[in-house]
Amino acid sequence: CGIVGYIGYREAYPIVIKGLKRLEYRGYDSAGIMVYDGKDVKLCKTKGKVFDLEAKTLSDITTNGSIGMGHTRWATHGVPNDVNSHPHVSNSGDLTIIHNGIIENYAPLKQELIKRGYVFHSDTDTEVLVNLIEEVQKKEKFKLGKAVQLALNQVVGAYAIAVFDKKNPEEIVAARLGSPLAIGVGEGEFFVASDASPFIEYTSNAVYLEDGEMANIRLHKPMKIRKIKDDSLVDPYIQELQM
Ligand code: GLU
Repeated sequence: CGIVGYIGYREAYPIVIKGLKRLEYRGYDSAGIMVYDGKDVKLCKTKGKVFDLEAKTLSDITTNGSIGMGHTRWATHGVPNDVNSHPHVSNSGDLTIIHNGIIENYAPLKQELIKRGYVFHSDTDTEVLVNLIEEVQKKEKFKLGKAVQLALNQVVGAYAIAVFDKKNPEEIVAARLGSPLAIGVGEGEFFVASDASPFIEYTSNAVYLEDGEMANIRLHKPMKIRKIKDDSLVDPYIQELQM
């Protein structure tokens, strides 16, 4: 299981696909990718290998765009199939998430969301999380980062996540607890990944999120890292990777 995300000026698709291949050693049963083309989120996901995803992408979607997120899944909730593969999209279609880990209290959260009219298409815990973020965001008109933070404070479990909101497409929000997450810091571009291998050829500057931290990764703005629990800001510690 692994995650890769890109936001910048290059074509995201080849970067994300190559990154997913580098993370193949972590093991997985399905793979998926999203590319934001400046207007819409294009999504492709499949049971099987990154190789199968590439084949399916070529026939199913256009892949131009400079924001992308990809995922290899190790199924914990819901069998390995196309629908349960990530990314998952919220009911409004605005939010897209990739997630490694487990949301342990997804069942009561899901019941609550169903009562509020949410519909679920997959059997995953992840689809519950993305809709919980949406519900928090809608209720208080929060920006994505705030909504992710408040949602994560209702969650018990382990996660490395990256979330994209097409209403505000200059940003990826990432967070971790119990699963690794590295951020590659380039010039005018950022990478998010389970380890540095997907981005080491593009930048040698990396920030490793600590457990319980989240990052607002915004184009042309300094990255903000804060603690999920109490919102306190953390100075990003940028590490120089050995090429
Ligand atoms: N719990 C999530 C699922 O089953 C994520 C699994 C993973 O870490 O890949 O879809």
